[in-house]
Amino acid sequence: MYLVRLRRKGDVLKIKILGAGQQVGKAGVLVSYKGSNILLDYGVDVSGEEPDFPISVKPKILDAIVLSHAHLDHSGALPLLYVSAEPRLYVNSLTMDIVEVLINDFLKISKYYVPYEVIELYAMKRNAININYREKIDLGKFSLKTYNAGHIQGSSLIEIDFGDHKVLYTGDFNLEKSCLLRGADIKPFKNADIVIMENTYSLYNHPNREENEKLFIDSLLEVLDDGGVVLIPSFAVGRSQEIMCVLAKYDVSYPIYLDGMARIISEFTLQHKEMIRNQRLFYKACSMVRKIKGWRSRKRAIKKPGIIISPAGMLKGGASVFYMEKVMDDPKNAVFFVSYQVESTPGRSVLQSGIFTSEKKSGIVKARVEWFDFSSHCGRNDLIDAIKATRKDAKIILIHGEKEYSEIFKKYVEENLEKEVYLPSNGEELTFQ
Ligand SMILES: [Zn+2]
Ligand SMILES: [Zn+2]
Repeated sequence: MYLVRLRRKGDVLKIKILGAGQQVGKAGVLVSYKGSNILLDYGVDVSGEEPDFPISVKPKILDAIVLSHAHLDHSGALPLLYVSAEPRLYVNSLTMDIVEVLINDFLKISKYYVPYEVIELYAMKRNAININYREKIDLGKFSLKTYNAGHIQGSSLIEIDFGDHKVLYTGDFNLEKSCLLRGADIKPFKNADIVIMENTYSLYNHPNREENEKLFIDSLLEVLDDGGVVLIPSFAVGRSQEIMCVLAKYDVSYPIYLDGMARIISEFTLQHKEMIRNQRLFYKACSMVRKIKGWRSRKRAIKKPGIIISPAGMLKGGASVFYMEKVMDDPKNAVFFVSYQVESTPGRSVLQSGIFTSEKKSGIVKARVEWFDFSSHCGRNDLIDAIKATRKDAKIILIHGEKEYSEIFKKYVEENLEKEVYLPSNGEELTFQ
C-alpha cells in the first residue's frame, strides 16, 4: 500500500486490485469510500491448467457488486460470494442470461475442483438487479450508472458517483463500432476523476475494420467457390454474432451453420435489440444461419461448400474440434481464426506450426489457415483517445494488460498526455483523497 499525494481534504477513497493487476484475466476491483464497499467484477482465469481466482473479499462487507460483462474472466468467480452471504449484484439482464449459460458450462467442463456449485450461481441470480444503460441507481451514499462499452453484447462501462468523487471502471471496452455493436460511450470518460482502465492492446493498433471485413469475405468466397468448407472457430459470445453480421452484410449466399452455445447466445441477443447497433442486420443474420441440431446435421454440414461458425474459438473443446478433425486434411477447405489465439492452445499451434492435436487426432493441417483481427478491445490509439477525453486532473489506473506492455504505455501516457498513471499489481491498494 502506498499513499498518493494528497490533493483534497476529506475521506480516503481506496481502490484495491483483487485481480487483473499487471495481467489479463480474473478481473476484480474493490472500491471503498466513506464506509461503502463496491466490488467491480470478479472473474476466473481459465487460461492455465487449473482455474485461478482473484484475491478473496468478504461478501458481507459489500454494499454492491457491479458486473461489467459476461466473459468468465470478469464473472466466473462471482458465485463464490454467495456461499455465505447474499450481496446485491447490479447487472443488465442480457449479461445475467449469458453469465448463467457460461458459468453452467464452466462448471460442467472444468476438469478441476471449482469451489462453488450451481446452487451459488442461482443465489447470485436471485440477488441480481437489472441496471439499464444510463439509468441512475441511487444507493444512498453513492449512485451507479452504466454505459455501453462496445465490447460484447451487454458490456458496460461502470460509473460510481460518490458526490465528491466519480470513479469510472471500463471493464473491457472498444471505442470502434462493429457490425454488431455501437462503439463505447465516450461521455463518462469526460466526467470521471479516476478511471480504472483495461489496456489489453496498449501497444498495438487493430487493422481498419472495413478493409479487414473485405479481406475476410474475399478469402472466404475463394474457398467456397472452389468447393471447400470454411470452419470459423469462434467464441460463443460476441464474436460468433459479429461474424454472422459480417456475412449478412456482404450477402454471402452459401449455407451458414451455427453450432454450440453461440446458438442460445444469439437467441438471448435477439431479445435485447436495444443493445444492438443495426437491428435489421442482426435479424437478417439470424434468419440466414442454420442452427446445428445434432450429430446428423453436424455431419451433413461438412459435406457441401458452406461456412461453419462454432465454439470453441481456440479449438480447445466444443464442436469446433469435431469440425477441425473433419476439414483439416483437405486442401480445398479452410480454417479462419477470428480471435487472438492464446499461447499453448490448439488454435495457436495450428497458426504457429500448422499442426492440430485433439484427443482423437493429431497431424499437419492441409486446409488453408488464416487469421483475421476482429478484436473487440480498444487498440492503442483508441486507448489514447479515451485518456485524452478525460479531465486534465483525472488519474488513470491501468489494469488488464501484460506487465511489460503496460509499463511502456504508462510511461507514454505520463510523458505525452501529462496524466498521473498507476499500474498496480494484484493485492495493491491505492488511496486517494
Ligand atoms: Zn471481455
Ligand atoms: Zn477481460
